[in-house]
Amino acid sequence: MHVIGLKCRECGKEFPHELLNTCSKCFGPLEVNYNFEYIQKNISKGSIEKGPKSIWRYKLLLPIERKEVIDLGGGYTPLHRCKNLAKELGLRELYVKDDTTNPTNSFKDRVVPVAVTKALEFNMQAVGCASTGNLAASLAAHAAKANLDAYIFIPSGLEIGKIVQMLIFEPNIIAVRGTYDNANRLATEVADIYNWAFVNINVRPYYVEGSKTSAYEIVEQLDWNVPDRIIIPLASGALFCSINRGLRELEKLDLIEENHTMLTGTQPKGCSPIVDAWVEKRDYIIPVEKPSTIAKSLAIGDPADGYYAIDAIKETKGNAYAAKDKELIDAIKLLARTEGIFAEPGSATTIAGLKALSESGDIDRDETIVCYITGSGLKTTDSVVNETIKPYEIDPTVKSFEDYLEKRWYHGKSKDKILFRIT
Ligand SMILES: *Cc1c(COP(=O)(O)O)cnc(C)c1O
Ligand SMILES: [Zn+2]
Repeated sequence: MHVIGLKCRECGKEFPHELLNTCSKCFGPLEVNYNFEYIQKNISKGSIEKGPKSIWRYKLLLPIERKEVIDLGGGYTPLHRCKNLAKELGLRELYVKDDTTNPTNSFKDRVVPVAVTKALEFNMQAVGCASTGNLAASLAAHAAKANLDAYIFIPSGLEIGKIVQMLIFEPNIIAVRGTYDNANRLATEVADIYNWAFVNINVRPYYVEGSKTSAYEIVEQLDWNVPDRIIIPLASGALFCSINRGLRELEKLDLIEENHTMLTGTQPKGCSPIVDAWVEKRDYIIPVEKPSTIAKSLAIGDPADGYYAIDAIKETKGNAYAAKDKELIDAIKLLARTEGIFAEPGSATTIAGLKALSESGDIDRDETIVCYITGSGLKTTDSVVNETIKPYEIDPTVKSFEDYLEKRWYHGKSKDKILFRIT
């Protein structure tokens, strides 16, 4: 019906609807080939608005035929207007897309339900992935719900918050001594041996489609208008490319008038192969051998979709920025203090990038801008534990409390107004 099969991104060769990820003719990556005529006849703003409050409201734009889907409620996350942060940075209209509210607290809850439902469609007995942490937690949770075995390869040395979160669902966690790229290479070899659905390997063409839902939601939440710019964290580059594709599909289906959104990609300085290529005007990626950054979720040295992400930056007249770890800590604290949202370091690259690029004039202060916060800071407390103000210990007396009030920090607000006594 709405899915024809797969198609090579490079040479256009068509393939049937199977578990494949590379073109047999040119070795290019495959993507889902939709029947847009069928979709156009069956989709409307009204039909979407009546749908479930999850990624599944866009099911006609996802590669799933099965009626029964695996759903923990991922997607349909808030888009917050951020007046305090906009004021602080001198911007006119700023929003944050807050994916920390997803079931396992990251944007991966958009891609994993699609991949796991696909694994059931293909009758697979087990699922697997290589992960920098967030994918692992999401896959472990959704595999539990789908009653499937999960084999998850992570680089050793991830944040303890992420490890505990993934372990609680009791998947098989294999911590590989080395980097993400080492873990991913091993997982790719294992995927050739066992008949399992590896969400970021043999299921990849289907899996990445889930990321388009963040673009659909942003547009729907802006009352079917596109923002001037979306700032997106880059790891493998898949999310970035999918958001671009999602916006183009809405245009093709006449659900928006004209797509003019510029896409800005952000990475941490300690692992910025895509941003570096863009800055140096290369169209090839030089892999980073040993990533070194607190933004571990973005520490992919050899990004699979890096080349296509650079293409999407150019195509949308966007730009890119790599932030130092210190800028990430400052950005986490800035977003928390002004807007009440706790981001992980990888997601805070978008706020650090917004600040730097608006100061340098590379982002116009009059634009409508959306920063994508893809993961929660509660998973990465290690990176900020020494950066917060400590609780002030007092004796259980009013006297001791008032001694404290004299010393406390007033956020630049009027101390006299706050310390106004009623007795
Ligand atoms: C996975 C992830 C991304 C984006 O990953 P891609 O591989 O580029 O799709 C962004 N932010 C966070 C926090 C992530 O976990
Ligand atoms: Zn091909």
